[in-house]
Amino acid sequence: MVNTKNIRKSICEIGKLLFDKGLIDSSGGNISVRDGDKVYLSPRQSGEHHQWSIDEDSVIVTDMCKVPIIGDLDKITRESVCHYYIYHNFPEVKAVVHAHPPFMMSFSSAHMEIPAISEGTRCVIGTLPITNIEESVPGSVQQAERIVVNFKERRKIDPECGLICNVPFHGVFSAASDLNYAYLYVEVSETNCKILINRQIMFGNNPKADLSVHHAISREEIRSIGENKEVCETGFAYKDPFGNETVYRGSGQKSPMASNVSSDMISKITEEVLRKLKNS
Ligand SMILES: [Zn+2]
Repeated sequence: MVNTKNIRKSICEIGKLLFDKGLIDSSGGNISVRDGDKVYLSPRQSGEHHQWSIDEDSVIVTDMCKVPIIGDLDKITRESVCHYYIYHNFPEVKAVVHAHPPFMMSFSSAHMEIPAISEGTRCVIGTLPITNIEESVPGSVQQAERIVVNFKERRKIDPECGLICNVPFHGVFSAASDLNYAYLYVEVSETNCKILINRQIMFGNNPKADLSVHHAISREEIRSIGENKEVCETGFAYKDPFGNETVYRGSGQKSPMASNVSSDMISKITEEVLRKLKNS
């Protein structure tokens, strides 16, 4: 069961984090979370009026048609139409972030797509470039429809890709299965852009610079990142932190000798406790 209090709190915390990291500014940005048939949204002008220091009670809760359950209709973020359109079209999406990250916006303000080069971006979002929708009026239905089309096209090419797109001269929209990932998509994409811009400034005209990706990480390799890897060969003899001679048996297992030592210790302690209890 999702704790209602925690959703409202997490929207405030992610908003502050986005602001402190320069991913949103006082002119805008908005955040929402979907919980079943309820949508939680950051309040209107969180940046302009509060510099993203908003409190939990200001977070609006509505149904899927934007009918308020907690809070007033006119306090809902002005970009809310995009959030609802995304939720209506992607049932698996549980959080949407709209941010104004300046390095990503530098690409959209030249109508350039963003190649995914950083390992973080390739592993978290996938290798598809982050593309632009057409210039749109902020908060309009047209903008919302274009974002949905962009996300659907991404998913058609790569069903496992992260959902994020650029809005020229304006900002980005990301959508994910939870708020942490919707935030993460923005942060890794912005870092990706910082790298692209820095290496262009530093090495763009250097004929020795090799800007190509040498190893395209596959989905299988990405999945293997979390698997346990051995750091010693089975049978490796070593001294453990307690000074015992021991042998590594693989899969994070100690040698039987080491377990005997700890059983011995447990027996000794048990005997000692029983002896003290008898004497008391
Ligand atoms: Zn905006």
